[in-house]
Amino acid sequence: MTQLARRTNSHQQGKSSDKQLRIFNSLTKRKEQFVPLESGKVRMYTCGLTVNYLMHIGHARTYIFWDIVERFLRYLNYEVSHVSNVTDISVDDNILKRVSTNDQTFQQLVTRYTQDYYHDRHLLGIADPYTYAIATQHIQEMIELIQRLLDRGFAYEADDGVYFRIDVFPKYGQLSGIDPNTLQAGAGGRIDKDEYDKETVGDFVLWKRTKPSEPFWYSPWGPGRPGWHIECSAMSAKYLGQTIDVSGGGEDNIFPHHENSIAQSEAANGTPYVRYWMHVRHLQLDGEKMSKSTGNFLTVRETLNQYSAATLRLFLLSTHYRKPLRFKDTTIHRSQRRIDRLRQVLSRLQAINEGKAKPSHAEKQILSSLQEAKQSFESALLDDFNTGRAINHLFRFVNLVHSFLDTRNNIANNTVRDLLTFFESVGSVLFGDLYTREIDVKPDPVVSRLVGLLLQEREQYRHQHQYQQADRIRTVLSELGFEITDTKSGIRWWIKSKA
Ligand SMILES: [Zn+2]
Repeated sequence: MTQLARRTNSHQQGKSSDKQLRIFNSLTKRKEQFVPLESGKVRMYTCGLTVNYLMHIGHARTYIFWDIVERFLRYLNYEVSHVSNVTDISVDDNILKRVSTNDQTFQQLVTRYTQDYYHDRHLLGIADPYTYAIATQHIQEMIELIQRLLDRGFAYEADDGVYFRIDVFPKYGQLSGIDPNTLQAGAGGRIDKDEYDKETVGDFVLWKRTKPSEPFWYSPWGPGRPGWHIECSAMSAKYLGQTIDVSGGGEDNIFPHHENSIAQSEAANGTPYVRYWMHVRHLQLDGEKMSKSTGNFLTVRETLNQYSAATLRLFLLSTHYRKPLRFKDTTIHRSQRRIDRLRQVLSRLQAINEGKAKPSHAEKQILSSLQEAKQSFESALLDDFNTGRAINHLFRFVNLVHSFLDTRNNIANNTVRDLLTFFESVGSVLFGDLYTREIDVKPDPVVSRLVGLLLQEREQYRHQHQYQQADRIRTVLSELGFEITDTKSGIRWWIKSKA
């Protein structure tokens, strides 16, 4: 079984920025100024994968979004404690279904997909949270929480398990908009499933008594397993306290999962559970919601056979998280072209070795545009993490720097450094770990020398009017993934993104 992984944030600790972040709170349905419970610190809990299969790109949209939230909060100098759960083995109905149709034990299936989940997150440049909270390692905390709900009269024991009594929690429905009065009229029904829709709402299960061939844990109510919702209430309280600043997941987590999490936590503790809820809209494939349960999905791995991780990441961030997004090749190609433009501008800047000491007038202008780009990038993300707008600002500036470089050969070192620092700082927020892995990639020195030699050869052929041979060198380099451009100031080359 995977060990609980802990990582201390390496980000700069200190005072949070005075820049005002606004978040659309799914609970109040309006944009609010973000003020954490404790100044300069953010407690964040996000719902991770149910490890019964590989991550699909709809999940990726959500996890990449949370990665941006975490990185941007750090960019603003907040100290972030991010806990994300892994719903593993038998606590989830879906895992049981998959085990029964596959020739694997629970342990084998869950261990494999948990490792795959971590691996796929890394492929997408997503940082590990401060803690991965593994559900099955917290059964005791869940039992204690259920006991507290029983003691306080919010839960009851039935033949097949323990249930939360929704009619004694008047705030039930506050997140999803379900009317508690309607509920009371239809109450009495109990739901023993982890996932259900609003039409079948009723008292929901906290502990399920074991059925034949199912794995189980001992509890005061007999052997069984916890319902899905209780894990997030129990684990967030353990690592982050009873009230947390930020939480959320995909939009389908709103009901019943987050509605039930609020009920469990607030009924047990008597304190507010989450101060800012955020939910990411679905990714659509062929006009329909991408979903594991309907089979309409593409895994991250399948998609990365065709596109680079940076391209996929940029595409998923190109639309604001609260707007629906369609997985479309044409839009993805646009992201791919943008990444090429960014990589080109970085390699052009890095190729400038000797700059004069003082910046020219044109350089001062580009530096002032840099300040504007930085400000626009920040304001876009401060406005409820509007990544689409932030990306547009960034790439407008990339184009501006290209035009600036087209007319100049000699640039002050400080200007180059300021431009590279800016790209690195915003690039690391947007692309996460992919910035150094896929964007700001410095070619191997041996590769650089070999390409240089081949280009010299090509120049000689051209000089001797042997254009066929010259073109052959270019074609070979292109097939190997090198893009060659002839400019007034000489030949430029870079390694292209994956097609
Ligand atoms: Zn959860």
